Amino acid sequence: MAIDFTLSPELEALRMRIRAFVDDVIKPGERELEGGGDGEPLAGRDRLRALFGMRKQAKEAGIWLPHMPEEWGGMGLGHVELAMVQAEAAKSYYGPWVFNCQAPDEGNMHTLLHWGTDAQKEKYLKPLCEGNTRGSCFAMTEPEVAGSDPTLIQTRAYQDGDEWVINGHKWFISGARRAEFAILVCRTEDNPDIPQAANSAFIIDLPSEGWNDVREVETMHGGTGHSEILIEDLRVHNDQMLGGRGQGHLLGQYRLGPARLAHCMRWIAQAETALDMMVDRSLNRFSHGSLLAEKQGIQWMIADSSMELYQAKLMVLHAASKIDAAHKQGDDTPADERVDFKGEVSMAKHFVANMLGRVIDRAIQVHGALGYSTDTPLAHMYQHARWARFADGADEVHQMRIAQRTIAAYTDHKSTRRATGDLPI
Ligand SMILES: Cc1cc2nc3c(=O)[nH]c(=O)nc-3n(C[C@H](O)[C@H](O)[C@H](O)COP(=O)(O)OP(=O)(O)OC[C@H]3O[C@@H](n4cnc5c(N)ncnc54)[C@H](O)[C@@H]3O)c2cc1C
Repeated sequence: MAIDFTLSPELEALRMRIRAFVDDVIKPGERELEGGGDGEPLAGRDRLRALFGMRKQAKEAGIWLPHMPEEWGGMGLGHVELAMVQAEAAKSYYGPWVFNCQAPDEGNMHTLLHWGTDAQKEKYLKPLCEGNTRGSCFAMTEPEVAGSDPTLIQTRAYQDGDEWVINGHKWFISGARRAEFAILVCRTEDNPDIPQAANSAFIIDLPSEGWNDVREVETMHGGTGHSEILIEDLRVHNDQMLGGRGQGHLLGQYRLGPARLAHCMRWIAQAETALDMMVDRSLNRFSHGSLLAEKQGIQWMIADSSMELYQAKLMVLHAASKIDAAHKQGDDTPADERVDFKGEVSMAKHFVANMLGRVIDRAIQVHGALGYSTDTPLAHMYQHARWARFADGADEVHQMRIAQRTIAAYTDHKSTRRATGDLPI
């Protein structure tokens, strides 16, 4: 049984290179973007020039597309190795974007790589990988029906010759306003054999007639690029279908597995930043005769956060190792021998999302009024963290699936072991 959490010397060197790049290039670049403390934040062309300048440097440094195979210009890393890269990259706000491994493009790249035709890969995946485009978006959620249950999707496509005509309503489509294309999931089948076979996915060039940007939805962390879209008689050629008819649900699930875990990797970086800040503050703030770090009430918060972060890291590494093992299996692997990582990803996603909120909350508590202010990144991180508990699968839906798997494991084997990581203890 091999359990070894050390990185090879090459990967350790890569980790250090990424850390140095984040510290020496991205963090100063971010300060410049925000006006360096006393100036005006950069806007328009100046902002784009600064952002794409960092991307160019990252590409030249070979820290680029860590999640993609080398033939697509990527670093060809597995998911365990990717966890290491994402956790370093997300120590800065723009890190994942600078390395071209940010949501939703990262998930869309995986999806196009797996489901796209050669022509679709050439037209959409290649420019996305090169990183000179304004990016892509993924459009599934609708305001009228529960996003947690994609079998309820109402956006409808009907066939008209060799075209499809689409009508519907989407919202919270991240990056839609700047995206050059969307992967749109809509209903194409009237009487599918199973509810999960009702939807298909299409690639939509943006802008397109019939794709109407209603607004960017204002959220608790501002209007940060999540659009409401009204789709009216949008026409796409049959060639724009991504995957087969009725495979939209499957495609969404395929996309979400690794994408959920990639979120967890980035959230770990955020939680670690919050814990570092919590400890630093407690070592520098004096009250009632001692430093905060010497007070038991503060130590409990530090200890709980350390334990939870440790659990989170182990869960993410284990789920990532299962995804790697699954991807190593050939398509001819019998169904009952396939490595199933869904349960581990679900548990990691639920745990890490909640851990993130708790650790940032404690860090704010230890900082007092300063933590509540926007003078530190904590307030901003807290607002961002809240969405983690329902986007990409709400807590309760993950809990429902985890419980179903646990009950099934017991029903099948008279033991719940398979549902608790299937570990050898
Ligand atoms: C910042 C942000 C970015 C997003 N980006 C995108 C994007 O790019 N593309 C996209 O398509 N979508 C995006 N979304 C939408 C996101 O995927 C949905 O919010 C998510 O799928 C949940 O759907 P919903 O909001 O409709 O909530 P609902 O499905 O209505 O669920 C609301 C609540 O009901 C409860 N619930 C639901 N089902 C169950 C159940 N079976 N059992 C128990 N309780 C249940 C849960 O508490 C859940 O939080 C984004 C959302 C946010 C906040």
